[in-house]
Amino acid sequence: MTTIAFIGLGRMGLPMARNLIKAGHRVRGLDLSADALARFEAAGGQPVRDLAEAVRDAEAVVTMLPQGSHVRAVYLGADDGDGVIHHAAERTQFIDCSTIDVETAADVAAQTTARGFDFVDAPVSGGVGGAEAGTLTFMVGGTDLAFSRAKPLLESMGRNVVHAGAAGTGQAAKMCNNMLLAISMIGTAEAFALADKLGLDRQRLFDIASTASGQCWSLTSYCPVPGPVPASPANRDYAPGFAIDLMSKDLHLALDAADRTGAETPLGSAARGLYDQMRDEGHGGLDFSAIFKKLSKDL
Ligand code: NAD
Repeated sequence: MTTIAFIGLGRMGLPMARNLIKAGHRVRGLDLSADALARFEAAGGQPVRDLAEAVRDAEAVVTMLPQGSHVRAVYLGADDGDGVIHHAAERTQFIDCSTIDVETAADVAAQTTARGFDFVDAPVSGGVGGAEAGTLTFMVGGTDLAFSRAKPLLESMGRNVVHAGAAGTGQAAKMCNNMLLAISMIGTAEAFALADKLGLDRQRLFDIASTASGQCWSLTSYCPVPGPVPASPANRDYAPGFAIDLMSKDLHLALDAADRTGAETPLGSAARGLYDQMRDEGHGGLDFSAIFKKLSKDL
């Protein structure tokens, strides 16, 4: 049994913490929301009031926070001396599962490891459903030692735990994957929108493309039109799933990184434009596959 401090008990963090409890660990939880803390306590966790209490004698600290600014504040503190790294016991390992920019991840890693702690950035793929089912994929950046220490805990919350490379590369993998996902989803939705105009039956297009060279995950596992894949959000009025707000956030992280490094990402840039537009039109809470409705002029 490991004593774990879990910070950030939101839509993803709470079910992840619940799986750590189920795996037999002693889990302390911290969140700004009293409601989240109450739900965590009902799941068998021990709610705490501040960072110092959360990390005291903890062997591991897991964070699942909205953005880089929150991660920076929790690890390094707003004022000098009040981040988790200032309160943690020697040998504590840190696992940040939030999706944030590579620079913040690498900076937090550098400042944490400078104090002798192990740190990994370990963003996830799989959404709330994967967090609840314990089937997340973790993309992990950090040293070999930090990765091997974090792996057993990550396996209590997920199915695939992949070492991407040095600190920050977990975030790099996440943003590259999600940019690719956005582009492939838009391409799939465009193909169905064109098929509709050409009088080609949607199921026929699905049957042909899913066994031909157009095959991809956005088509065969997450089809953006109702019918061919019963579990896809298209069959429940595009309730997420993975919301447009989150896809838009991830595309901004990817495109900021592309700008900084000089990578050419014309389709990523177009995808960001389309998802930003949907978000600005008030559709940010829909699943990202609802791009099909926009392309069909049905939104
Ligand atoms: P969320 O907003 O539901 O939860 C974040 C929680 O962090 C909130 O409960 C908030 O009160 C808490 N928090 C913020 N600042 C805090 C602080 N200083 N101390 C303690 N608690 C604090 O967000 P989420 O959907 O759980 O997402 C978390 C991260 O996971 C994000 O980076 C997101 O991009 C990523 N992610 C989300 C999904 C998804 O489907 N929701 C999928 C993959 C990755």
